[in-house]
Amino acid sequence: MSTGQLTTLHSLEPAGDSPSGHVLIADDDAMFRRILQTWLESWGYRVIIAKDGAQAWSILQHEHPPELLILDWVMPGIDGTELCRRIRERQRSPYQYILLATGKDDKRDVVMGLEAGADDYLTKPFDRNELRARLRVGRRILTLQQDLINARDELRFQATHDVLTGIWNRGAVLDLLHRELERAARAKTSTSVLMLDLDHFKKINDTFGHLTGDVVLREVANRIVHSVRSYDLVGRYGGEEFLVVLPACNEVEVEQSANRIRLAIASAPILTASSEIPVTASIGATVLAGAAAASEKEMLLAADKALYEAKNGGRNRVSVV
Ligand code: GH3
Ligand code: MG
Ligand code: MG
Repeated sequence: MSTGQLTTLHSLEPAGDSPSGHVLIADDDAMFRRILQTWLESWGYRVIIAKDGAQAWSILQHEHPPELLILDWVMPGIDGTELCRRIRERQRSPYQYILLATGKDDKRDVVMGLEAGADDYLTKPFDRNELRARLRVGRRILTLQQDLINARDELRFQATHDVLTGIWNRGAVLDLLHRELERAARAKTSTSVLMLDLDHFKKINDTFGHLTGDVVLREVANRIVHSVRSYDLVGRYGGEEFLVVLPACNEVEVEQSANRIRLAIASAPILTASSEIPVTASIGATVLAGAAAASEKEMLLAADKALYEAKNGGRNRVSVV
């Protein structure tokens, strides 16, 4: 392959840097901005330009600002090191990787730049290949960060959600109930809790098997979620027991909500791979009026008592205490 062919292939290869976000170039020198922009775009980066420090700072206030920044050291108004300091002071997540561009190569200047918060620096005039390599270093750090953020989010999800149904797990829904009671006490609004237990669920397991029982539990969770308002909270309290927290509902509305859920479960059999399984649920409901105070434990006891009444009353019904 001739050198000419190699060069052509190289310039056609923006994917090599696989940038996922935007790069901010902040420089007051128009010529320098243009050269940088041309290079970066040829490597596949999406570029945002700032003509000075103030404009760069304003771009960084956006909800999703660029994460890779090339900042000129010397700019009128807010200079590169001042930008570095401001960015680090606000400690926003995700982290922004800063490459400081400088005509200064005195070691003391370099130390000052890094101490102001820059991750790396490049001395003008830039070597094209060195810039490209240093940007890749930045991307590597940012990708590592994104992987950590994703892993943290995944762990957070797993710690708060029920594996089988995907709704809140017991710990999370109890936490949310606690918070809702505190919020309601401040706002003097009511809070309601529904405790729902499937009727004769053991028989479903015994007849169709445990795996089919799991399919039923998933579909029941799905039907509950689709029967409530977006700000109601639905959690799996135990095996075939669910808890629903309804902020700001009076007694009539709570009974309506509970019956809507009950009918969503009972109105059509649940289709599984092998069978159509009719399912019903009993629901105990309790309402804590605006001015009253109660712990989540007291509310759960009341809802449990109501559930007991619903079961004793013949199942597939709602009882409110
Ligand atoms: P009742 O109408 O009085 O509530 O009767 P029930 O049969 O629903 O009540 P019981 O508490 O005796 O049975 C609950 C059953 O739920 C027993 C248990 O094996 C089953 N179960 C609990 N967790 C799971 C689960 O994750 N998957 C499946 N398939 N079954 C579960
Ligand atoms: Mg039960
Ligand atoms: Mg049951």
